[in-house]
Amino acid sequence: MQLKSKDLLGLEGVSREEINLILDTTESFHEVSERSIKKVPTLRGRTIINFFHEPSTRTRISFEIAAKRLSADGVNFSKSGSSFSKGETLLDTVKNLEAMQADVIVMRHGIPGAPHFIAQHLDAAVINAGDGAHEHPTQALLDMFTIKRHLGKLDGITVVIVGDIAFSRVVRSNIYGLITMGARVILVGPPTLIPVDIEKMGVEISYKLDDVIDQADVIMILRIQLERQGKVCLPSLREYAKLYSLTPERMKQARPNAVVMHPGPINRGIEIDPKIADGDHSVILEQVSNGVAVRMALLFLFAGRKELTEKR
Ligand code: ASP
Repeated sequence: MQLKSKDLLGLEGVSREEINLILDTTESFHEVSERSIKKVPTLRGRTIINFFHEPSTRTRISFEIAAKRLSADGVNFSKSGSSFSKGETLLDTVKNLEAMQADVIVMRHGIPGAPHFIAQHLDAAVINAGDGAHEHPTQALLDMFTIKRHLGKLDGITVVIVGDIAFSRVVRSNIYGLITMGARVILVGPPTLIPVDIEKMGVEISYKLDDVIDQADVIMILRIQLERQGKVCLPSLREYAKLYSLTPERMKQARPNAVVMHPGPINRGIEIDPKIADGDHSVILEQVSNGVAVRMALLFLFAGRKELTEKR
């Protein structure tokens, strides 16, 4: 079994077999992070460039740690301090990075489709680390890995995703991935944050968390993406919190073994109460740990793709 594409640009169109390959590979790398010496020589001599054009804490650092744990040479690029301010285009910039023999370029960009555009022009593999409000495939993969570790499967489970459905890239990748893997997905949020026709992606919709919380095996909470909402989509954050925040009171309606997730960064007291974020149902920090293993698996699977494509 091989991955079809040179790049990981999103989970749209990625098959169940490919997702299983990534999750199974992650399982084998997960153990490396639990050793006292957390390093294997697997990607010695490979060059990974982290190209982050937007802020990031977890994704950037976990890609960096993943590269180091695989013995690859990881280099970080950030917008500030680069030649963007001198007028260099995105394509020229990444072509220059590729000319330094990068095997993988991990890219985060505020514009949806930016990684897809550069992937067409490069032989190096491109991994999308979040493009605008479009997709964040590595987050969804680490979410699915975490769910599978807790529930043993993805097929047939019910995942309730709550919050800013319209502007979250995490939700879009999770919908593609979870539906492909046979999960039932219920999206919950105020009507102003639920795109028209999103049901066509195979999901169900609810405007009231209290109506569906008891059906959830997994409750995935999203941050309100204030930085992406051009206009105000909510009467107030207080009003939002009253209806959608995951509070201890609301959690009483959930199944005793329901798993609570959040991709981070958390806005405590808005979309989630600190008692729940830090409580027994929460696997939020496990998601972060698993993120390193998922990114190790992805670097391993994609670092050699360039040569495969060249040989064809
Ligand atoms: N860290 C995730 C992202 O970059 C989630 C968020 O920012 O709300 O999309």
